Amino acid sequence: MKDFVYVDNAATTRLSTTALEAMMPFLTSDYANPSQPYSFSRESKKALRNAREIIAECINADPCEIIFTSGGTESNNTIISYAIRKGWPVVTSAIEHHAVLKTADLSPYHMIIGVDNYGRVSEQILKDCLNEKSLVSIMMANNEIGTIQDIKLLCELTHANGCVFHTDAVQALGHIPINVNNIEVDFLSASAHKFNGPKGIGFLYKQHNTHLSPLILGGSQEYNLRAGTENVASIIGMAVALKENVDNMDKNAKHIHLLENQFFEILDNAKVRYIRNGINQIPGNISLSVPGQSGELLLHRMDLKGIMISTGSACDSDNTQISHVLKAIELDKLYAEGTIRISFGKDNTIEDAIKVASALISIIQPST
Ligand code: PLP
Repeated sequence: MKDFVYVDNAATTRLSTTALEAMMPFLTSDYANPSQPYSFSRESKKALRNAREIIAECINADPCEIIFTSGGTESNNTIISYAIRKGWPVVTSAIEHHAVLKTADLSPYHMIIGVDNYGRVSEQILKDCLNEKSLVSIMMANNEIGTIQDIKLLCELTHANGCVFHTDAVQALGHIPINVNNIEVDFLSASAHKFNGPKGIGFLYKQHNTHLSPLILGGSQEYNLRAGTENVASIIGMAVALKENVDNMDKNAKHIHLLENQFFEILDNAKVRYIRNGINQIPGNISLSVPGQSGELLLHRMDLKGIMISTGSACDSDNTQISHVLKAIELDKLYAEGTIRISFGKDNTIEDAIKVASALISIIQPST
């Protein structure tokens, strides 16, 4: 069926077949609005409740702490807009997704903290910003370079200074273990299409003692925190996909690690000059900078060979400028311009890893 190699799983993932099967009845026969009191709504109401329980269990939360949204962008907007309405300063790192940065920019008090060359936030710099009640929003894993932050530590520090902590876990959920009771975040954003669920659905975790007011106003759905008739089928697909990924997390991570090793072994044997950006990366996320190359040209040449990769971040693919993330880690311009992102997923094979590495070598070392 597929005659191309898809290695852009950080941009989006293939919908799980189990998730699709679970969704189908709610797109066809069981189409009732779950808020209606009649018996036809019973199935969709029950399925919604089950999905909430499954998702809560996957992150060790309580079902009442899960608010369904249309995805990562909306979840991020909801919490940051709330902080702005409260008049709290918003503290973010310089490498957040634009769904965080652009919303936080609406605040008259948006403080952006720098990161080190690997994309890590320093505790000391964060601490220095926290002198009044603020919202701190720091992503769990970066979408461009894959760096995983020490969220538990940053959250502890935030709470010790009387502030509220949100993490954008869009790239992390379903790929690394998340236990909200352990990391003690107040809010967490998630998006189903990054873990083999459907697009246009996600959730916001809200610790039950914390306050929030809705971004989207209307009906009383989602505990009065997100109005609008629930996207029942997609919510069910999200729950099934998340559980599938969480149940197979170790197995998937090991498989993806093998693909990464195979990929780098081929590049190293061919003596390709490159830098891998980030540190402690999310499984499969490879940000590769090749000096003297153009990331955009590499993307198009790989595309001609039937291989789908990304330059910098997918959400920025129309933009040929050096991304805000690469600027923030102060990557040398020669390397930054030649940066591509390859993101392996659980569906990729060793053959895919070999094809991707070989194609890349044939482009950057045409004579070999
Ligand atoms: N946050 C991060 C870190 C992301 O990578 C993305 C998508 O690329 C988003 C937020 C936006 O999520 P969604 O596509 O569900 O709106």
